[in-house]
Amino acid sequence: MSTKCIFCDIRDGIIESEIIFENDSCFVINDIEPKASIHMLVIPKKHVNLITEFSNIDFDIFNDLFKAISSCSKISNINSSGYRVSINQGKNSGQMVDHLHLHLLGGNQLGEMV
Ligand code: 5GP
Ligand code: ZN
Repeated sequence: MSTKCIFCDIRDGIIESEIIFENDSCFVINDIEPKASIHMLVIPKKHVNLITEFSNIDFDIFNDLFKAISSCSKISNINSSGYRVSINQGKNSGQMVDHLHLHLLGGNQLGEMV
């Protein structure tokens, strides 16, 4: 059954998306509208939106999120050329999907951070 959350629906196989990488706590997909040559989304399996909603137990998820970043930067060969990891939180950041996710961007020279 659809959950009204795109990323939960992808997790549950309701919306089709190739899973590039997966570990106990998270999965990785390509962004549907890539902002760089490589643009992956590292998504916790558990639906949590804001970092401030995380409990102490949930913070363990960040171990797996950053392990996934490490693996995916190697898989996609951007480890040596460099990459950016970003998280949008709330209205002023322009966050569109209310399910926490890390953007992994690289493969070309990235613009300045705003
Ligand atoms: P946010 O702005 O919330 O940090 O980023 C959400 C990202 O999810 C955007 O870069 C957007 O392109 C991507 N996105 C939105 N819907 C889908 C989808 O259905 N599939 C995939 N693969 N990416 C999506
Ligand atoms: Zn969700």
